[in-house]
Amino acid sequence: MKEKQQLLDYIDSNADFFRGISDQIWDHPEVRFDTPHSAKLLADTLREQGFDVEEGVCGLPHAFRATYGAGSPAVGFLAEYDALPGMSQQAGVPERLPLLEGAPGHACGHNAIGAGNLVGALAVRDFMQRNHLPGRLVVFGCPAEESGFGKAVMARQGAFDGLDALLTWHPMEDTTLWGGSCLSIALIYYTFQGVASHAAAAPEKGRSALDAAELMNLGVQFLREHIPSTARIHYAFLDVGGAADYVVNRALGTAMYENLKRVTPLPYTKEDYDQARPFFDREDGDAKAALLARLRRVYPHFSKEELDSLAASPLNHALAPLAFPAEAMMLSTDVGDASWFAPTAQVTVAYGPNGSAPHSWQWVAMGKSGAAHKAMLTAAKTIAMTAYDVLTDGELREKARKEHKENMRGRVY
Ligand SMILES: [Zn+2]
Ligand SMILES: [Zn+2]
Repeated sequence: MKEKQQLLDYIDSNADFFRGISDQIWDHPEVRFDTPHSAKLLADTLREQGFDVEEGVCGLPHAFRATYGAGSPAVGFLAEYDALPGMSQQAGVPERLPLLEGAPGHACGHNAIGAGNLVGALAVRDFMQRNHLPGRLVVFGCPAEESGFGKAVMARQGAFDGLDALLTWHPMEDTTLWGGSCLSIALIYYTFQGVASHAAAAPEKGRSALDAAELMNLGVQFLREHIPSTARIHYAFLDVGGAADYVVNRALGTAMYENLKRVTPLPYTKEDYDQARPFFDREDGDAKAALLARLRRVYPHFSKEELDSLAASPLNHALAPLAFPAEAMMLSTDVGDASWFAPTAQVTVAYGPNGSAPHSWQWVAMGKSGAAHKAMLTAAKTIAMTAYDVLTDGELREKARKEHKENMRGRVY
């Protein structure tokens, strides 16, 4: 379709600039709600490209809403940009080597999520302008995906109301549509207060806050035996947050997967494989066995030869089949919160070295690699083409809207 080719050509001809945006966010890792540099870079870029930008929306200083066009149809893009604490790591180095000990790093690839959503939206804006296509694009700058759950705060304030679709992507181990729901999550903040006393002279007067925290945690360990097998309990000292599972939309998701097919397999070069090879070769036998087991699960249609070949590759170039598993995926995301408000679809694109998982130093180290850039641009192209579908295909909008209503079964956020 020549209209979609215009979107792809726009992204390819500006690819250097877009790679730079992802890299600049990688260079300034910021955590939770405190993301001034990353938010400003995306907001300023969108403003320069003709978007109306409101910063500090929903009471969050580093959340923003960037709008192009007016009325409907309307498509939202969920840009994330927060990093993970303590994950500082030098780019391209295949061993654990922090840039700055204890500093944050982009171990979940949110630098590329922010850039990919921006690029997708800019491509559609360019198309709308040149072809006088009506509609509205809204890029949401969403801080604190990893902890704090920025989208939950934004959802509660109606940020995602009145849209025909919400699109995004996430770097992952495989390239496919995010077809499963996720676990909803409840974050609870407990404060323990002790009483200070001299540990040697008057220990009987002291009360230890740490003891209380440990006792509670011990209780939780016993509780684990008696919770459903699909539930997870994690502990850390975080912030308050929201709770909502991810509402899968098959109509929109299928359309997005069709677009993903058009831009896959990922166009890795020999250089990309060479760059990932030393990371891949460091993985031990257990990790390699786990990789093969996972590939078997995700690519059930592959022959043994195909599986062995993919398991021996430093990068995962395959496109995983479209699937809408009934059981929830063993992870949580605040995209779930947004998905209660509009039909939502997101793709995942392989990002780190084959066999390494999100939140690893390997993912930080590979965050500025050719493979990571290709993941970001592939996601951006898929997002752009799907936004185009939503803007131009009334039947798709109606089908997705109807399904969303059925999925919600009257539930209110
Ligand atoms: Zn993430
Ligand atoms: Zn993450």
